[in-house]
Amino acid sequence: MNETYIRHLQDIVRIPTVSTENDASTDWTQFDRLHDFLKEAYPLIHSRMERTVIGRASLLYRWKAKEPKRLPVLLMAHQDVVPTGDPAQWTHDPFGGELDQGCVWGRGTNDCKSLLIAECEAVEELLAEGFEPDFDIYLSFGHNEEVQADDDRKGSVLAGRYLADRGVRIGCIFDEGGMVQRGADSGESQDTALVSLAEKSPNDFVLYKDGPGGHASKPGRHTVLGDVARAMAAVEAHPMPYRLTPLAEAQLAALAPLQTGARRAVYADPKGH
Ligand SMILES: [Zn+2]
Repeated sequence: MNETYIRHLQDIVRIPTVSTENDASTDWTQFDRLHDFLKEAYPLIHSRMERTVIGRASLLYRWKAKEPKRLPVLLMAHQDVVPTGDPAQWTHDPFGGELDQGCVWGRGTNDCKSLLIAECEAVEELLAEGFEPDFDIYLSFGHNEEVQADDDRKGSVLAGRYLADRGVRIGCIFDEGGMVQRGADSGESQDTALVSLAEKSPNDFVLYKDGPGGHASKPGRHTVLGDVARAMAAVEAHPMPYRLTPLAEAQLAALAPLQTGARRAVYADPKGH
């Protein structure tokens, strides 16, 4: 099982599914390759679950329970990765999927093809065991999580709409996040497996200012760009207040004893900081 998982992770990392802001510059053949890989690697998922392509390349699978007694569970992940950037910064080929020093190396190993594969392995194995859930199980794999896209193109939004249009209410969603914190990296005294209970949202601003044109020979005191830059700095200086649900607060309190240094006090009493 472990060996199959490693091989599948290597295989999927070798498929460069880089998403771009602009659909026209995305190499969709790579997403087709990824879809073919999934069909081959997970035959039971593809023979027993209902598969729907959402938007340009997102995937939604449904394992229909014979007698549903509870609300469905939705397992999420995304197929796309960000570009590789400067090749000199890589110690291993970003799309080589090399196994070295006990690790698979490459773009997407952490964010988040490893999760996509883990969910598929688990569901495939449950199907093989003859498990019969008393709730529907959905798999939802977006194709453009890593880029800004308006709602009409965003795979996860379209999948949500698809389910809402069919009156599906989801009981529980599992998605990526800081699932495992390595103590050495995060300032904790030991490694922690996290169940993430809350999430902050991004806030996008578009700032406009009209002003008279000018010329470098008569620059004047202000430019529109300077004004917009000051407005941006003002936005940055006034962050939205954060809100902690009681559950998130309780989680921080439980994690506090594992923290080292100043972080321990912040976790124990987040509102006091
Ligand atoms: Zn991600």
